[in-house]
Amino acid sequence: MNDQSQPSASPASAAWAGRVALVTGSTSGIGLGVARALAATGASIVLNGFGDRAEIEGIADAIEAEFNVQVSYSDADMASPAAVEQMVLDAIERFGRIDLLVNNAGIQHVAPIDEFPIARWDAIIAINLSSAFHTIRAALPGMRARGTGRIINVASAHGLVGSPFKSAYVAAKHGILGLTKTVALETAETGITCNAICPGYVATPLVEKQIDDQAKAHGISREAVVRDVLLAQQPNKRFATVEEIGAVTVFLASDLAGSITGTAIPVDGGWTAH
Ligand code: NAD
Repeated sequence: MNDQSQPSASPASAAWAGRVALVTGSTSGIGLGVARALAATGASIVLNGFGDRAEIEGIADAIEAEFNVQVSYSDADMASPAAVEQMVLDAIERFGRIDLLVNNAGIQHVAPIDEFPIARWDAIIAINLSSAFHTIRAALPGMRARGTGRIINVASAHGLVGSPFKSAYVAAKHGILGLTKTVALETAETGITCNAICPGYVATPLVEKQIDDQAKAHGISREAVVRDVLLAQQPNKRFATVEEIGAVTVFLASDLAGSITGTAIPVDGGWTAH
């Protein structure tokens, strides 16, 4: 991404050197894969998420060393609107700008709707949906002032189709697709784009936990859960990889993706083609 009005076909690394990407929920899984993919193009990275402090510092140091970029870290809780706003302001103070905002932080809870804990519903809506409203609100003025920017929301195949027992998650992911379209329309003439990526199942800690939970709930093996429960809906019968999600993010972030806005791009092995 650069500030010129004409799209540039220069290599991503040249285009991205000096740019700044904030990726929420990037201490693990898809967010970390996306952060690494963006760092590989030369972008400075703001990491966010929970975890062991020493481990996270190790992750940040490793990205800096491997890709020769600057990395900072925010422990902001995406359930707290004030903390989300402060994270964005701190990133702008540290790096001077946010060129690319990736709203990725997310949690899951699986239960029938009449047994769904109210606190879990509230947390999922806050972290998986409302946090994106708060980051976009805070980051957009700077993007508008520069006439360029990229907003990418990591939604889910569950933004496009439902599944039983995932009411809050499915509602939040459908909601973030609505937010994506609205932001795209509001920014359509500004050089900013806003898109969503809709992964199917990706092998990450979030899914690992579901494999264990479902194995216990159904009294079946982990292998059976993967084959017969999780990948039952995923026609290519394999997990997507964090590298595949990272590659789509890098493409959407490029200058040549400047006409793509308001979309929801499935990376789901054919799940939503059903
Ligand atoms: P993950 O559990 O590996 O990572 C989640 C990240 O979010 C971690 O860094 C965690 O610390 C962070 N996080 C959680 N709660 C937070 C909070 N309150 N504040 C700040 N950070 C918080 O999960 P993942 O599988 O990598 O999921 C990332 C995103 O991708 C989520 O939005 C998820 O819904 C979406 N997604 C995942 C899959 C999949 O199969 N793994 C499929 C579709 C969509």
